[in-house]
Order: sequence, then structure tokens, then C-alpha cells
Amino acid sequence: PVVTRFAPSPTGFLHLGGARTALFNWLFAKANGGKFLLRIEDTDRVRSTQPAIDAIIDGMRWLGLDWDGDVVMQFAGAERHAQVAHEMVANGHAYRCYMTNDEIAAMRAEAQAAKKPLRIRSPWRDRPESEAPNLPHVVRLRAPQEGAVTIEDRVQGAVTVKNEEIDDLVLLRSDGTPTYMLAVVVDDHDMGVTHVIRGDDHLNNAFRQLPIYRAMNWPEPIYAHIPLIHGPDGAKLSKRHGAVGIEAYRDEMGILPEAFDNYLLRLGWGHGDDEIISREQAVEWFDLSGVGKSPSRFDLKKLENLNGHYIREADDPRLAQLAADRLGHDLPTGGLDLLTRAMPVLKPRAANLNELAEGSNFLFSQRPLAMDDAAASLLQGEASVILANAHAELDALAEWDTEALEGAVRRVAEARGVKLGQVAQPLRAALTGRKTSPGIFDVLDLLGRDESLGRIADRMA
Ligand code: GLU
Repeated sequence: PVVTRFAPSPTGFLHLGGARTALFNWLFAKANGGKFLLRIEDTDRVRSTQPAIDAIIDGMRWLGLDWDGDVVMQFAGAERHAQVAHEMVANGHAYRCYMTNDEIAAMRAEAQAAKKPLRIRSPWRDRPESEAPNLPHVVRLRAPQEGAVTIEDRVQGAVTVKNEEIDDLVLLRSDGTPTYMLAVVVDDHDMGVTHVIRGDDHLNNAFRQLPIYRAMNWPEPIYAHIPLIHGPDGAKLSKRHGAVGIEAYRDEMGILPEAFDNYLLRLGWGHGDDEIISREQAVEWFDLSGVGKSPSRFDLKKLENLNGHYIREADDPRLAQLAADRLGHDLPTGGLDLLTRAMPVLKPRAANLNELAEGSNFLFSQRPLAMDDAAASLLQGEASVILANAHAELDALAEWDTEALEGAVRRVAEARGVKLGQVAQPLRAALTGRKTSPGIFDVLDLLGRDESLGRIADRMA
């Protein structure tokens, strides 16, 4: 059975790349009828924070990425991790290293002088314990020094690193706490993780983690290291490009979660030319062979286009609630119903929830309406006369529906010998305070007879 996991470090916020890693793991598990687990890697006690943990959980919920079982907190397993290190000492796969800081500094200086990367070769690897001083020590992996390791990565293909390039990494620090490298392996093993799918910035770690599996005689996971996300200019994604916490996409940019998911999916994974892919289709189609080998580029325009699509698809009551949350004021009685009724004409015009809320503002404006400059200029000259004609035609209507409303507005235009737009524009300004809005008959219909006639009368004087 397939078991995947998302293992974020709660040291910053959940960003685009992390969310994509989570989504790919989730999809791979679902596509294979497996399990998806969530582990918070909070072993860095200084940099891990509760707000970051909350943001991860909140972000996962928003994206609809539910996990199986409880959230695993890595630091809580520190004793178990240490126990594995001790086992490895006992079976000869690790050793206590008593090198002092001075000795390590000397080694570093030597490497620097020789312009070589620092590769610690501890004398304690071969020295008998009987010679050990009664001093603080770390526990190091006795890494193989000859040969090479090849990882058959599901995305990167076969990648080989010579063992001589891998040093005896520290498993336990001198204060007895486990290192990140050890904790990841022990947890992945204990949680039964079969597939490690993560950013390719972790590929090097895989070569340091595999020897731990081998030393413990544990089954090795299948690795899939996903290329990172780059900015539109091809450089590594930075804050300027949108490497912000994903809540910014929700809160500031007004992105719907299904649009964000679809966008994340297409960042580095493809299924033919399909751009719009539902969750169900994604579960059916997702596979690691569809993950590209080169970095994908962040493209805000694409995200906005997808968002517009999903807004048009979304249920009206849900959208009305999301727009209401962004209005910045409470709704009057019946306001949510009005918003819901307005959605069919508002949502085709909105690329994000901010625009949706913006576009619906006029429904709740208080008389006399504030006019923006463009609207004010539409109300000059002839406008007040046209509005008076329109008021009279509209007031006489027996039915207040879009058909009757259209007839009335057309009659005003014909009587004055002007184009429809010359009536519609001042009406739009009077009714919405703007130069742009949904179709004028829809606006009249939504506002209703009393409110419409009142707003028009306000501009007739
Ligand atoms: N905690 C690591 C990170 O947030 C991920 C470790 C892993 O996936 O193996 O970058």
C-alpha cells in the first residue's frame, strides 16, 4: 500500500512550493488508494513557531488536503530517534566521536586551504572505545567510504553519488538530541512511508539518508524529487515573485482554493494540454511520470485566469458569502439573498473575490450615492432630463422584470432619438455611482422598483 507524507518545517509560512509538494503527495496517495500523512518537522526549537504550525494546518484545510490519522509532531519522537542512534552504535553502524571543536576547525581550515569541500573524517571511526575520553561526544554514522549510491528517482531518473563524497554525518548532537537527518529517516520508516515526494532541494539529503536505512536494514522508500518553482523571469522564486504564505492568495488576492489547487497541479505536472482539471480528474490521472524535469515558472496571469473560471463555476450562495465577507460592512436584512440573486450577473465579470465584492458594492450603497469621477461626468448636460424621462417610463411599469425594463429604457431612447447607450450610461451612473456595472436591466431588476426610482430621482434635479 502506498503511504506518502508532507513534512513541512514550521519555520516560515506555507508557501507555494510547500503547498504543491503537499498536493502532489495527497494526489499520489489518493490515485493509488493509499494514505497521506502530515508530519510537522519541529525539531528546530528556535525557529519553529506555533503561528507557522497553525498556518500550515489552516492552509492544508483551505486547499482541501486532508490527512490520515493525527498530525505527527517530530520533536515528540526525539527519544525514539535517539534510541535508533544508540542501536546503530551497538550494531557498529555508528560510532561516538570525541573530536573537539578545535580539531574540526583545523580540518575546515585545511579543506579551505586545499579548496576542497569540508568532509569530516573522524579519527574515532576506527579508534577503540577503550581510548575514549570522558568528554562530550556526538554520534556519527559509519558511512560506507567505497563505491557509490544510485537513486532511481521517479522524477530525476538515476542519480549517482560516490560514497567518498558523503561524510560521517552526525546522528546525535553532543546534548543527545537527534539531528534532522536521523529524525526524517526514523519517522518515515516508523510511519510506513513508501514514497518520499519532495522538492529537489532535498535530493542531496537522500544520499545521506539512504545509508541510515541500509544500516538499520529497513526497506528503502521510493524517491521523487520535484523541480523547484521559478519566477516568471526564470530566477528562483522570491518574495517579489509571490513566494509568500499561501494565505495571501486567499486573503489578499481573493483566490478560490479549487483555482489554487488546479494552478499548483499544473506547476510541474501535466496531462496533455489540459489546463482545467477538476479534483476528481486529478485523482484519476495523477502519476509521477507526468512530473516534468525542469523547473516550472510561476505565472500570475494563469492563476488569475483559472480563478476567473472557477468563480464562474462556483455556487451562487457560496460566492455570495465569500463576497459578503469582503464587503467590510454588515449586510442589511435580506442582503445575502440579494447578493446570491446578483451572482449570475456579477461573477462573469470578476477575476477574483475582491473584484466580486467590489462589483457588488452598489447593491448596498446608501442614497444619495457617492459618484466616482467617471460617473459624475456621465451626469452632466442632458443627463438630468434623460433621467426624468426614464423615471416617468419606469414608474409607469406594471411589471418590474428585465423584459419590461428593457422595453421602458428603449422607449426613452426612441422618444429622444438617441442611442440606447445614451440613456443607459446616465442611468448606470445614477444607479451604481460607476461607469461600469452589470447590464443596466439587470441592475434595475436587482435594485427593485423603489430603490431604482429613488436613486434616479436623486439625480434628476
Ligand atoms: N522538513 C523539510 C522541509 O520543510 C522536508 C523534509 C522532507 O520532505 O524530507 O523542507
